[in-house]
Amino acid sequence: MSSGEGIPDDGVMSATSALTRVPTAQPALETSLVEARDLTRIWGKGDAAQIGIEGVDLDITAGEVVAVIGPSGSGKSTLGALIAGIDNPTSGSLIVAGTRIDRMKTDKLAAWRGGNVGIVFQDFHLLPTLTAVENVELALDLGSDVSRRRRRKMALAALDQVGLQHHARKLPAQMSGGEQQRVGIARATVTESALIVADEPTGALDQANGHAVFELLTGLARTGTTVVFITHDLNLAGAADRVVSMIDGRIESVTHQEVTS
Ligand code: ADP
Ligand code: MG
Repeated sequence: MSSGEGIPDDGVMSATSALTRVPTAQPALETSLVEARDLTRIWGKGDAAQIGIEGVDLDITAGEVVAVIGPSGSGKSTLGALIAGIDNPTSGSLIVAGTRIDRMKTDKLAAWRGGNVGIVFQDFHLLPTLTAVENVELALDLGSDVSRRRRRKMALAALDQVGLQHHARKLPAQMSGGEQQRVGIARATVTESALIVADEPTGALDQANGHAVFELLTGLARTGTTVVFITHDLNLAGAADRVVSMIDGRIESVTHQEVTS
């Protein structure tokens, strides 16, 4: 008798997007979206071993905005790639959105990812020969039997949400970096995934565009999406619900923050 908890089957949801995040209005029972235990990713063996992350324990609650900070090489991208299901850990367990993904094989993982995670990259990862709307539609191609017409409609709606409805037919090269990243965000949100993982999404942008992109990403949390946001920018990290600080492949500290906006 499951009613498909929280997952809209026709995409007609989230009309209730509140203007502010009000944690107290949420149910007392907090749903865990990410549960990492002793998560480790090492490349190579013995003296040649390269440690990505080691012994990471992390819980992320549904609807949270978590910033991951730390110096270059501290394991931020490694952790992000594991949580997003782009990579498998060497050991440890990882449950994301209710599914244990740490041992999942590549094909299954890709299918799982398509329905559960939106990923935003520093360098946008848009296909240069496709228009904005076509790039967004690509996210719906994987493992979905949505009609072409419906895909177009959903992609245009996602572009609308990032303020790019008038740029739908432009190629990436015809857009600014900030606009391209907003296309990247539309591509990550169009599948209505529970989780967005963004690896330095503002890294290639100037401050104003970076801030706009950050606002868009954190705004998603108001509609219940969980956002993991890797950044070098301590100002941006300061606006997250929690800051996970990494060093040498380990979590050094986790700081809870009051969200003031
Ligand atoms: P950050 O994103 O914090 O800069 P990364 O997660 O990219 O750090 O890298 C953490 C460590 O893992 C680094 O020492 C890096 O060299 C190593 N590493 C990352 N990816 C690989 C890989 N594919 N092969 C070998 N070592 C890697
Ligand atoms: Mg990185």
